[in-house]
Amino acid sequence: MRLAFHLIGLGENSIAEIAAAAAGLSALRICPDCFFFSDGACSLCTDARRARKILAVVERPTDVLAIEKTKKFDGTYLVLGEMRKTGGFAPDQKLKLARARERGPFDEVILAFDQTTYADFGASAVMKELEGVTKKVTRLGRGIPTGGEIEFADEDTLGGALRNRS
Ligand SMILES: [Zn+2]
Repeated sequence: MRLAFHLIGLGENSIAEIAAAAAGLSALRICPDCFFFSDGACSLCTDARRARKILAVVERPTDVLAIEKTKKFDGTYLVLGEMRKTGGFAPDQKLKLARARERGPFDEVILAFDQTTYADFGASAVMKELEGVTKKVTRLGRGIPTGGEIEFADEDTLGGALRNRS
């Protein structure tokens, strides 16, 4: 009800825009390889210019957008979902990791997680899951503040963290 009143308050043009945007959402699918949103063939996974042997594992779709904005990364992605604060993986995360293993072997897997303690634990767990399918595993370089979420890092900071991965 509150949403309806809010929308009505925005006026006719805004309502039409929002309706069109919402209709577009229903056409979105989740890519079965990288688990990012796509509206048909995934523009990230099907782009021949992207390096298939380099995989960035991120928690959220918005992290993909943040990394793409830096224009410093031309590999592919795995959107794993948020690391659980209690540790371990949710069933859908296990399936996603299994799919990532099938997509390998990789030259490099970049664990592009937030700089938080629970994400650190998550990163070690992901490392274990992908053992044997990648030549090396790297983490984002420092630059993302401790406790920081990469979605909110500015492009220079995130770009630098990508460059200085180790
Ligand atoms: Zn994809």
